Amino acid sequence: MIRDPRKAAVIAIGDELLEGRHADTNSGMISRRLADLGIEVVEFRVIGDDRARLAAAFYELCEKYPMVFASGGLGPTLDDVTREAAADAAGVKLVRDESVVAELREWFARRKRDFPESNVRQAEFPDGAQVMRNHNGTAPGFRTWIGGGVLAVLPGPPRECETMLERELLPWISATCGHGECFARASFHLVGLAESAFGDRAGDWMDRSANPRMGVTAHQGTLRVSLRARAGTQAGAEALIAARAEAFRERFAAELFSEDEPRLAFVLGRELIRRKLTLTTAESCTGGLVAELLTEVPGISAVFREGFVTYSNEAKTARLGVARELLERHGAVSCEVVEAMARGAAAATGARLAIAVSGIAGPDGGTAEKPVGLVCFGLSVDGVVTSRETRFPPVDRATVRLFAANAALELLWRALPD
Ligand code: AMP
Ligand code: MG
Repeated sequence: MIRDPRKAAVIAIGDELLEGRHADTNSGMISRRLADLGIEVVEFRVIGDDRARLAAAFYELCEKYPMVFASGGLGPTLDDVTREAAADAAGVKLVRDESVVAELREWFARRKRDFPESNVRQAEFPDGAQVMRNHNGTAPGFRTWIGGGVLAVLPGPPRECETMLERELLPWISATCGHGECFARASFHLVGLAESAFGDRAGDWMDRSANPRMGVTAHQGTLRVSLRARAGTQAGAEALIAARAEAFRERFAAELFSEDEPRLAFVLGRELIRRKLTLTTAESCTGGLVAELLTEVPGISAVFREGFVTYSNEAKTARLGVARELLERHGAVSCEVVEAMARGAAAATGARLAIAVSGIAGPDGGTAEKPVGLVCFGLSVDGVVTSRETRFPPVDRATVRLFAANAALELLWRALPD
């Protein structure tokens, strides 16, 4: 079988993962780091601490892929069997590495702890394996050849796994498996665009065989787009990226809010600070979430005046001066009311920008006319007040609130005066 040198599989090992007691975060982390090297992970597996099953999977995947990555099952106790399984799959014995035993003893001595003899297991590796140091813990990892593929085993605890990958494994991969290919990448963050609409507009840029290759993921109302190019030289890869990036910026000018910072609140908050634009929020439905997202930004108190969380009609009247008859005539979730809320918040605080939110987060409270997911936004920019309503999919209360808060951020971002 001809194996594509740039494809790999990742295995998460542990009964706790299969039983749903613990989520597998290592595999995704490994995959993301490999992507930086231009290695594409095309298969994930989760396997329990079962020697025979693990050995079979190691063997099978090393036949299919030149590189297989695994994490977990390297603990000192007998329930961790990854080492044994790797040796079985490689058809070799486990051998003890005395220099690793010495290191382990020293690790415990430095911490003034007795060395449990069971830890000696952590110094056993498939014969011929290359040991990878653990900079944050006791269990070393290793690389072993199984048929024509290499199996790299990392420890389960995420911090240990990531550090070992970073310091012991990726440099080795770059040095050994580079195949003379160079990689460059770029990323873009978009707002106000659904994934499907993005796909339509990106067209053949999204082809799986395109170079640069484009990937997109949705994240709380924003899209994260990544570009990865490969070429024979670094300059060649960077030129491919530069050309596509330029075209991308042009095509998505209206939605592109950042090429580095993925959080819209941060891009907006920093812009408000830089331009000394004062702001206030008046929230129903989102319960202060817009204020929460914005106040995560360091230094925001220079421009963030005050946030109102007004749920009752009385509060909207008392705090924001919303006329009672407006509430009675149009209801609290209406463009008229959010406009009055924005106007009132701006007047109360003297802020140049005011954003107001009112909506039906659900699960109850929807009607045919005003269904769950309906959210109205009011915006005041230097006294000019506008509003709009949006119907978000009525997924669940938390999601509707998050959609609404991010849409409020988007409105503010779009309203930034030139
Ligand atoms: P192990 O090396 O299998 O004994 O794993 C030690 C600990 O690392 C486990 O109890 C988990 O807390 C954590 N761990 C193991 N595998 C993973 C994984 N795939 N993702 C995140 N954490 C993990
Ligand atoms: Mg385990």
